[in-house]
Order: sequence, then C-alpha cells, then structure tokens
Amino acid sequence: MPISRFFNQALRTITPYTPGEQPAGAQSWIKLNTNESLFAPSPRVQLALRGGAVDNLRLYSDPACAAFLAKLADTYGVRQTQVFAGNGSDEVLAFAFLAFCEAGAAFADITYGFYPVFARLFGVSAQTIPLRADFSLAAEDYAACPQTVFIANPNAPTGLALGLTAVEAFLRQNTNRLVVVDEAYVDFGTQSAVCLLEKYDNLLVVGTFSKSRSLAGGRLGYAIGSEALIADLNTVKFSFNPYNVNRLTLLAGEAVLDDAPYFEACRAAVIETRGACSAALQALGFTLTDSRANFIFAAPPAPLSGEAYQRRLRERGILVRWFDAPRIQNYVRITIGTHAQMQTLLAVTREML
Ligand SMILES: *Cc1c(COP(=O)(O)O)cnc(C)c1O
Repeated sequence: MPISRFFNQALRTITPYTPGEQPAGAQSWIKLNTNESLFAPSPRVQLALRGGAVDNLRLYSDPACAAFLAKLADTYGVRQTQVFAGNGSDEVLAFAFLAFCEAGAAFADITYGFYPVFARLFGVSAQTIPLRADFSLAAEDYAACPQTVFIANPNAPTGLALGLTAVEAFLRQNTNRLVVVDEAYVDFGTQSAVCLLEKYDNLLVVGTFSKSRSLAGGRLGYAIGSEALIADLNTVKFSFNPYNVNRLTLLAGEAVLDDAPYFEACRAAVIETRGACSAALQALGFTLTDSRANFIFAAPPAPLSGEAYQRRLRERGILVRWFDAPRIQNYVRITIGTHAQMQTLLAVTREML
C-alpha cells in the first residue's frame, strides 16, 4: 500500500481491520464468511422504504434518532435516555474507545479483531488478557485490570458465551471500572446483560442489527446504558457526525422492531441449523466449540489444517473465515447459512476427507 507524505506519523504503522471477503457476484458463492443473516430483512422493511422515504432523502436524518430509539427502548424495557444509535455497532464501539478509555482498554487475546484497531487508532493503551486454554473467559483474570474492559458475549470467533452471573462478576469486581459488553450475537443463544443495568452503572451494552436482524448493509448499531453514559456518547457523536444514522436505515430499523415474530422465527431457524450442522461436523471428526452465535467455530480432523480446509472450500465456491492468529490457526469460522447451503458444505467436506 502506498503512503502519502501527508499521512500522520502516528498512523503510519496501524494495521487496519481486515473485513471478510465480499466477492463481486456474491450470488455465485456460498457465502459463509461474514456472519450476515441468511434471511432477508422483515418484509416490513420493504414497505417502510417505499414512496416518500426516498423523496425525504433530501432532508437530513433525525440527529436524535428519536422514533427509532423510542422503539428500541421499548423493545429492551429501558428509558429513551438510556439508548444510543450508531452507524453499525462498530461506530458505537469506536465512540466507546474514544470516550471511555483514558485508563486504557483490556480485552481477550482472541476476540473481535476491531478492538485492538480502535485502541491503536485512538491512542488507547491496550492490554490483552489470554483466554484460558479452552477459550473460556474468566473474570478472575481481570481482577487487577483498571482499564475499561471489552467483552464480546458471545465471543467472536469462538462463539462461547458467558451467563449473566459471569458477566456480573466482571461488573462487581470493580464498580469504578466500565465494562462494555458487545452483544452482536446475543440473540442466538445467551442472555442479554441489559437487565443488569438496574444494578450497575458501570455497564454499557452494545448491540447490532447486522446479524440477528438482517440489516448488515443498513449499518445500524446501538448502545444501552446509564443516562450519563449515553449522554457522553452523544457528546462524542455530536462532535463528530450528528447525522450518523441515515434516514432509510432508521426507517428500516423501526420496521424490523415492529416485526418481532419474524425476528423470532429467523433466530430459531439459525439455532436449529447450527445444531444440526454442528452434530454432522462432529461426526466427521471436527473439533467444535459450544457456539451460541450464528456461526460454528470448528477445527477439521488432522491432517487437514484450518487454512487448507478454508482454501479447498473456496475452490469449491464456499467462503468461510480463517484467522491467521496464534491458538486458532486450526479453526475456521463458518457462518450458518440455509439448510441447503450447509448440506453442500457437508457434502464437499465429506469428499475432502
Ligand atoms: C459483527 C460484529 C460487530 C459489528 O457489527 P456492525 O454493527 O455491523 O458494525 C461488532 N462486534 C462483534 C463481536 C461482531 O461480530
């Protein structure tokens, strides 16, 4: 990559986040590499975006995101002053790194790859705390950490989830330390920490509409926390981009929240397919984590390496994600697709073995 002579010295050595491949002609691939939803958004989104919605694009979006946030607050049983909307949860997380990490940030060695990038971008000192050998996350390992703690729950790419008691252990450990719980995958099999907000003001829950609500391309994320934390996020947002969520996406987000039955059906289908596909891979000798997300994290049986498995699937038109990182090099992350897509994956895998 060329670097201009104008680029800030401080940023010259940054390693940006590497998104999963988004191939041209996505239709011709079985795309199981970026944890998108296999379902289209609720049909209500189509209706919401007809007609006047497009004409109104001449107007700025609502900087308060009021109509959307009213519905979001309702959905989660919190006050409207406790919710915040962002251009994807990546933006919300970026604002959290910018706003709340004077003492640094602490997070696992194996977790969402954007945390170290945000830390680097905003000059936040980062401490990585290794997961245990079985990839589990233990609050005791953070006892001496004064930094803001970032937890993905369920974790990515392992899929492992913490129960509420385990999340609470982080909050209780040091009530003067903020804990950010990134719940991108929470709807696929673990409990949200939102109910702990009544008891703890050192908790910020971050979520996204990209996975369980089928709006990855719409870019819609949120934070739920104390009134004061949300006010701080708004201070950052209004110092950066008051119109951070566009009009069409706000309408889409409302429409999605209006269709709870559709949401429930989609996530139930993903959970069911995950179970069936996990069992089939296990039967083929794969090592799997107990994923509570919309993906499977699996290591093929020797001598097939994770990298070779990913490469050979790609040759057959199936995209999965492999991470060139210590401890997880044997694994690939496979997004849950349709039943038919998973059957193809299994058939190709059987042939390979
Ligand atoms: C996908 C993902 C996000 C980002 O989601 P967007 O809302 O699309 O920006 C955040 N955290 C984790 C752990 C994710 O996997």
